[in-house]
Amino acid sequence: MVLPNILITGTPGVGKTTLGKELASRSGLKYINVGDVAREGALYSGFDEEYDCPILDEEKVVDELENHMTEGGVIVDYHGCDFFPERWFHAVFVLRTDNSILYKRLETRGYNEKKLRDNIECEIFQVLYEEAMLSYREDIVHQLPSNTPEELEENISQILGWIEQWVKDHNP
Ligand code: ADP
Ligand code: MG
Repeated sequence: MVLPNILITGTPGVGKTTLGKELASRSGLKYINVGDVAREGALYSGFDEEYDCPILDEEKVVDELENHMTEGGVIVDYHGCDFFPERWFHAVFVLRTDNSILYKRLETRGYNEKKLRDNIECEIFQVLYEEAMLSYREDIVHQLPSNTPEELEENISQILGWIEQWVKDHNP
């Protein structure tokens, strides 16, 4: 049976991990958190002093994930999307959260003033949405609101429905 690969992206704090894990457990698809994969394999190319975080070695990350993606049935979670091969994904979901709600979530995480400001700006300027629209065929990119538990439930059922349809269409 062929299964689709799904990318869940968006600014840090919008709810990618919450949605991705829940979707994986309900659909049986595999969940991959790119940040975790990079950490576990130390797939870094340097350190960003300004942002106080390691820089992802994108090539190594792509190599690391290639086999999973070829096999199919993977939900990928990452706050970036322009370095993945376009052919990997059958659908890209960009989660969106209102500023005041996102601010509170990131404050709870203990982000400092600069990191808070940068991430809120990232959301205001819809950086991840633009990146997704430039990196993938526009008709596979979908924005989803991610402010409330009700919206989370709606997103889960919408994506589960999409998966079910995709599986039907691709497994005659
Ligand atoms: P990300 O992986 O995008 O950084 P998380 O999944 O870690 O975001 O979610 C950040 C915080 O927001 C968590 O505390 C999570 O419980 C909460 N959250 C995520 N999605 C929603 C939602 N739709 N409604 C309310 N809270 C949410
Ligand atoms: Mg996360």
